[in-house]
Amino acid sequence: MTCHSTEALASANPPGQFVARLSPQLHRIKAFADNYLWMLQDPRSSHCWVVDPGDGQALIDAACARDLQIVGILLTHHHADHQGGVDDLHRWAANQGRVLEVFGPRDERIHRSAQPVEDGSEVDLGFGVARVIAVPGHTRSHIAYYLEQERLLFCGDCLFAAGCGRIFEGSPAQMLDSLEKLSALHPESLVCCAHEYTLANLRFASAAYPDHPQIAARLQEAIALRAQDLPTVPSLLRHELQSNPFLLGLVPQAQPAASAKPAQIDESHAARVDRFAALRAWKNEFRAV
Ligand SMILES: [Zn+2]
Repeated sequence: MTCHSTEALASANPPGQFVARLSPQLHRIKAFADNYLWMLQDPRSSHCWVVDPGDGQALIDAACARDLQIVGILLTHHHADHQGGVDDLHRWAANQGRVLEVFGPRDERIHRSAQPVEDGSEVDLGFGVARVIAVPGHTRSHIAYYLEQERLLFCGDCLFAAGCGRIFEGSPAQMLDSLEKLSALHPESLVCCAHEYTLANLRFASAAYPDHPQIAARLQEAIALRAQDLPTVPSLLRHELQSNPFLLGLVPQAQPAASAKPAQIDESHAARVDRFAALRAWKNEFRAV
């Protein structure tokens, strides 16, 4: 692999209420049609870690453009758009006489170079610690990485801005439990998800919650940003708790009108799973008009 240093540096943070500012050590790299790859830089050196390198060349270009040295890789799950670039990064590092540290879930489909980590594991990044949170549902072994000090969450395809991942291998109960775990993190955490799905997610959210002011405002913002090809991620967990339909009380119906007597909502686990499963199934088939 060679370095194409023509890669444009990160665009300025887009204006908007619902798009969180990138911290100076966080770099958002576009790849494929709608993926985001994340680079996390040691604030005191040029070392950086990459999360879910689906495209090795995109990250090599980004590292060159910023004069950064990739030293390690964090993998959230086995899908090719999240780990397809691992071999390229290993080759690139080997050409410089270096070996990359790689971590990922315990799963035979994860790149063989990855050291397995599990719920509660801590990965020492040199400048901080990434705690592993098991978030099965999208895949059975999906994990997220959380930097508590920096309040950074790398959640792969589990939680998206205004949405959540498809349930390919797990059950709705597993996915709901995973999302509830992430919901309990610090509300000012930056949600660094892996896809630019926000606009479609918000069109669905508007159908599920037609009278929700936060969702309506967030949709208008996303329409404006995407019309200019600007990113809508990362977001703050606080905003997800307020406007992500999968975190929002887990009730698929529109909220009752103010004058209506609020219905008694069954908060048992089974009832919450049923509501979540229905909402996720609706999203699978939803097409915006
Ligand atoms: Zn995936």
